[in-house]
Amino acid sequence: MIFAANFKTNHTRATTKAYIEALKEKLVAKKSEDKVYIFPPATALDSYTGDFTLGVQNAYTTQNGAYTGEIGLEQLEEFTIKTILIGHSERREILGESQELVAAKFAYFKKQDFEIIYCIGEPLEIREKGDKAVIEYLLAQFEGIDTSYENLIIAYEPIWAIGTGRSATADEIASTHEALKRTIQKPLLYGGSVKPDNIKEITTIRGVDGVLVGSASLDVESFSQIVLA
Ligand code: PEP
Repeated sequence: MIFAANFKTNHTRATTKAYIEALKEKLVAKKSEDKVYIFPPATALDSYTGDFTLGVQNAYTTQNGAYTGEIGLEQLEEFTIKTILIGHSERREILGESQELVAAKFAYFKKQDFEIIYCIGEPLEIREKGDKAVIEYLLAQFEGIDTSYENLIIAYEPIWAIGTGRSATADEIASTHEALKRTIQKPLLYGGSVKPDNIKEITTIRGVDGVLVGSASLDVESFSQIVLA
């Protein structure tokens, strides 16, 4: 199983350091085949070592240059970061990233051999239209994306389940993962209100290869419970 923690705009450099130190102790008990990823805010990136992978939540398609507010490869190379989240719904919806920009980021970081966790997810009005509408919507989010890329992990995150405390049901997750896997054979994570209370149920659903966790990853105790459940 894959367990990924997305801190979003939470934690500082100091609290990330303390979190990672505490997490490392917990990870001694993790199954060797399980993989853990941490995506702290950009200001907390550093050269951490341990039984986990440090990734970046976002970066721009450049080595360096005049892109105010962005970070590029040069800043990631300083900490040997080779893993990135692309296509998160908060970047699509709040920061206005178009499918075209998302696909350009994918192509750029693929060329740099990054491991890419590529996020897709439907809004509530699409879910309410039924399974067929959901799959059509999700597959459209692969426009311009090389789904055969070997370092690709996909995260299915229904937007209405993110940060709401309301996870998708086991049936919704199972049918969506099954339909996605018919088209794209890559590790497939579920994300959306994953917490210690529901981790066992979610990880036993067929077609779930791991989880991407936001809110419940912010506390090291809670994230460790998820990883070690
Ligand atoms: C996320 O945004 O990637 C996420 C899954 O958030 P949460 O766990 O808070 O729903």
